[in-house]
Amino acid sequence: MMKKIIQQLANSDRVLLASHSNPDGDAIGALLATGIALEKLGCGEVVLYNESAIPAVYRFLPSVARIQKHLSDLNRFDTAVILDCGDLSRVGSIAEAIRTIPAIVNIDHHITNTRFGHFQLVDVDACATAEIVYRLIQCMDIEIDTAMATAIYTGILTDTGSFRFSNTNQAAFSICETMVAAGVKPSQVAQHVYGTYSLGRIKLLNLALDSIEISNNGQLSIMTVTREMLADTGTQPEDADGLINYARRIQDVKMAALIHELEGGSGATDDRKRFHVSLRSDGSVDVSRIAMGFGGGGHAGAAGFSMESSLLELKRTIFSLSDGFCETCQLN
Ligand code: 5GP
Ligand code: MN
Ligand code: MN
Repeated sequence: MMKKIIQQLANSDRVLLASHSNPDGDAIGALLATGIALEKLGCGEVVLYNESAIPAVYRFLPSVARIQKHLSDLNRFDTAVILDCGDLSRVGSIAEAIRTIPAIVNIDHHITNTRFGHFQLVDVDACATAEIVYRLIQCMDIEIDTAMATAIYTGILTDTGSFRFSNTNQAAFSICETMVAAGVKPSQVAQHVYGTYSLGRIKLLNLALDSIEISNNGQLSIMTVTREMLADTGTQPEDADGLINYARRIQDVKMAALIHELEGGSGATDDRKRFHVSLRSDGSVDVSRIAMGFGGGGHAGAAGFSMESSLLELKRTIFSLSDGFCETCQLN
């Protein structure tokens, strides 16, 4: 499959690369590494796209300015490579237009991947999409420079929670070792990603910690980040990234949920708002199944979904999940 994909890319004049909206380090790292590699491979026009603004902590990545937020004339592309997306709709508003591109390559590691596209490079055992991209680049026989190495390293570092989450595999360490040999400076990446928070972000952490509620049985925690909290601290939605880990760390908690209020759509009222819910597990609950039940997806240990609801109703719905966690969601 890798050879077929490389052949398809080498024969394309115009390639679109895209990853999921509200990108994390893997979505951005995989996008950049693939983009730089395709240029080295000698593809014609290579366009990098993400619907959302790139979070400040990832703006140090080489070539990040090449990622476009707007696209015109999608008809001109021969091939689209979709990275770190369990389903095509994760790229956001251009998903339907992408469907008309003649060749779609699906590169991903989510267990809930819908196997969309004409070429699939889906490995649910990969620690990050950046791991799969690394293997693809190896197959292209091009040298990994420091820019590509930094992108791949950042993807693996962030998706494994700094080598702590259950997706941390041998490849995570061996690829990152190779990336360090290619010039990555781990302390510099860590300083950018984890050591440059704005004061507002720290204040948001304070409000978010204060919002934590625990189910009666102590097995489920809910953290809430509202638009008001962002306004009060002068922060952006990206500043809530990673906050859920505090709710997950609590003793006896099997599942943590972060309810993130989204920008109000046209139908938003006081009792009906749009929310994104992030779910994290301690390893005993498969949260991808829970997220799928709400039309979302993800991994066993980290998943998410979006829905419209009142905040109170949404909290009730999530708390009801803690009544012995549905049997199909138990991992052990
Ligand atoms: P988070 O909710 O913390 O942003 O994401 C956790 C994991 O679940 C990520 O791997 C993310 O790509 C995936 N995820 C989050 N929301 C959705 C969703 O609505 N649909 C699908 N398929 N995956 C999601
Ligand atoms: Mn991702
Ligand atoms: Mn990922």
